[in-house]
Amino acid sequence: MAKKTVKDLDLKDKKVLVRVDFNVPLKDGVITDDTRIKAALPTINYVLENGGKAILFSHLGRVKTEEDKAGKSLAPVAKRLGELLGKEVTFVPETRGEELEAAIANLKDGEVVVVENTRFEDVDGNKESKNDPELGKYWASLGDVFVNDAFGTAHRAHASNVGIASTGIPTVAGFLMEKEIKFIGDAIAEPKRPMVAILGGAKVSDKIGVIKNLIPVADKILIGGGMTYTFYTAKGMTVGDSLVELDKVELAKELLAEAGDKIVLAVDIVTTPEFSNDVPTTVMSGNIPDGIMGLDIGPKTVELFSGILADAKTVIWNGPMGVFELSNFANGTIGVCEAIANLTDATTIIGGGDSAAAAEQLGFADKFSHISTGGGASLELLEGKTLPGLAAINDK
Ligand code: ADP
Ligand code: MG
Repeated sequence: MAKKTVKDLDLKDKKVLVRVDFNVPLKDGVITDDTRIKAALPTINYVLENGGKAILFSHLGRVKTEEDKAGKSLAPVAKRLGELLGKEVTFVPETRGEELEAAIANLKDGEVVVVENTRFEDVDGNKESKNDPELGKYWASLGDVFVNDAFGTAHRAHASNVGIASTGIPTVAGFLMEKEIKFIGDAIAEPKRPMVAILGGAKVSDKIGVIKNLIPVADKILIGGGMTYTFYTAKGMTVGDSLVELDKVELAKELLAEAGDKIVLAVDIVTTPEFSNDVPTTVMSGNIPDGIMGLDIGPKTVELFSGILADAKTVIWNGPMGVFELSNFANGTIGVCEAIANLTDATTIIGGGDSAAAAEQLGFADKFSHISTGGGASLELLEGKTLPGLAAINDK
């Protein structure tokens, strides 16, 4: 998957359109987590240091009506970016028009413009999200080259990524995009073996495609978290009140048949009568009775999974092993984090919003080779799908 990157461009005196992912959480106009802004800095700094003028585009949240615009402006993001860059950043409260064009015309080398939330264009006919060709063409006309660094939206064909790129403007990947495709792409295309995939979390339906694609690739697939019970049901076990997706049971049966002993399920479960941290828990193996639910993998499973992980050379993990937000059900996720932290010679990747948050909160973030920032995009890459945003970047 050799794509051109920002290093393949001559940026001097160029108007460089950069699609970044500034989709940060905001509460009452205050940014509660600026990780995504920080993650875009290497590409922005590279453009500025090499004499380019940076024109930044991003979406923020979902905007379908005029009312949705409230609290979705990129103004606070532009301000925070200015602080992080240590330089003036011009914010244009428009997605098109004279003010934007004038701000770009006035840019000098090394200066930055942030364009208003691209999804403000969705209020009138979903122009951004439906990839209106006129909009992509207009935005492309504002610059000389295009850098796509928004991995998190690479699985969508929107005007601000695919639309701009498909006008034929030179299109390259930014450093964040490059890192994501390198880590995830290499891990599934040419994994160092043994390759172990770990899947958990709450929604089987979101991740079943990943399991299907990984069966021929991985040496072992460990299943924990809320996924466990759909697979238990497929094996004819009872799961009590645990999370189960009945319409995926047949598929789980097929996957079990196809994967043979590659799929490893939890052998014990931390159960509770209530979704709460305040009632005593019981570790159980086998059938789970009515009135009881499983919220974490048990200690024997942590031992089993840790043993399998001990000689792994590639680990891909998506979905927590239990309800890690409650301390009674965090030990499974902590145990698997510890097993991964002990690996010295492995490429280890964790992806998914809650999974990344778990690694962060539990204090293991620095133990992974790569924490993927794009939930949906990383899942689709793991499913073996072509990401339109990625496909639209020029090949090397
Ligand atoms: P990600 O965001 O990493 O893709 P998901 O959104 O699929 O992960 O799942 C994360 C959520 O799954 C967490 O909030 C966690 O509490 C929940 N979860 C994990 N195990 C269970 C379980 N056994 N029952 C119910 N929820 C679970
Ligand atoms: Mg999630």
